[in-house]
Amino acid sequence: MSTVETTAKRAVSKSEAIQSMYESFVVPTYGRFPLTLERGEGSRVWDVDGRRYVDFGGGIAVTSLGHAHPELAETISNQAKELWHVSNLYYTEPQGELARKLVELIAPGKVFFCNSGAEANEALIKLARKVGQEEGRFEIITTTNSFHGRTMAGIAATGQDKVKAGFAPMLTGFHHVPYNDLDAVAKAITPATIAVLVEGIQGEGGIHAARPEYLLGLRKLCDEKGLLLMMDGVQCGFFRTGAFQSYQSILADAGDHGFVPDGISMAKSLGGGFPIGATWIRDKWSNVLGPGTHGTTFGGTPLACSVAGKIIEIVERDGLAAHARSMGDHLMSRLGQMKEAHPDLIDSIRGMGLMIGIQLKDDILPLKETGRPTSIAMVLRLHEAGLITIPSGAATVRFLPALNLSQEEADEGLSIFENTLKQLKS
Ligand code: PLP
Repeated sequence: MSTVETTAKRAVSKSEAIQSMYESFVVPTYGRFPLTLERGEGSRVWDVDGRRYVDFGGGIAVTSLGHAHPELAETISNQAKELWHVSNLYYTEPQGELARKLVELIAPGKVFFCNSGAEANEALIKLARKVGQEEGRFEIITTTNSFHGRTMAGIAATGQDKVKAGFAPMLTGFHHVPYNDLDAVAKAITPATIAVLVEGIQGEGGIHAARPEYLLGLRKLCDEKGLLLMMDGVQCGFFRTGAFQSYQSILADAGDHGFVPDGISMAKSLGGGFPIGATWIRDKWSNVLGPGTHGTTFGGTPLACSVAGKIIEIVERDGLAAHARSMGDHLMSRLGQMKEAHPDLIDSIRGMGLMIGIQLKDDILPLKETGRPTSIAMVLRLHEAGLITIPSGAATVRFLPALNLSQEEADEGLSIFENTLKQLKS
């Protein structure tokens, strides 16, 4: 009999038994919601008590093909039976193929494989340092409210004080400037600056998209000053906005301008839930990180790369980039109607494709009375009603669902959201 089963006999429910194991044995780095999830299918998940939820959170923009996708399960199982790890001392076909595909989706260059978004950014940061080393240039400009991961370089790069608190001294050389403010970047450049790192759409910062002029201006400025323009595509990338990378969507909407960054970090949706990160590096810089300069044991295993490769194949086969964009438009239009109907509850709706932020008013009494931030109180209410969403900042609720979210799943989630809004008034 497992610990859960024995404890469950004493405790009131299985979920309480599991949660109490976390309390005793898991380092409490996360403020967890009281949901204990057991299985999923598409964009629906079930908790241990059999309650069903529509999943608009997607594991924070990760489960790109939803839960328990049969073709992914088959890919993992087949690859696991052949070869799942050999070390980067050797070659395997899935890693080579995935790198080729990522380069095809972006622009000429090469790819470094790792395991997470923070590590993908770490590779960008090391690339910039290596490029600038001989000239003594090492400073990197990033933006306020950005998020770049939880490693020491990640928190130094992140433009939010709360992630840095308690971990001084920071890795030096990062300057944060307001997002979408080109002048601020220009003013922050010093003789020691080597790179600019920005998200195409700030995710953790509450879903704020870069303006096309900002991206184009950054490219021009970086070219003029000899800086690398590096983009964090960890949350906003991977077809979520209708193109492979969010800058491609943003600039396509404004007329394509042949914009190419110097480096892009990726993770999250790339593996659909199987851990994999990747850093694409533009051809000009693609041999800077030579043998012995960087690496990670698990980067680019045949298992991870075959899963990511299969996801891209399915996204292309099933037209899921266009689907993400049109499903996003559908969600946005229904949310727009809800905002019109409830101007006292919804402040604004931001986003592109399946990356949506709903900023709630910060004076909604039933949410305020809980004593929690509005975003958390609303997410909890939505859980009770059967919808999973992700909080962001004080009052924003995010939808980051799977790229293959069906019309039926979308409409069920929207109805739950609307009913929950209505109940805030009664
Ligand atoms: N960059 C962005 C934009 C992110 O949203 C995140 C995670 O939320 C990261 C980097 C860090 O990724 P990971 O948690 O996989 O290290």
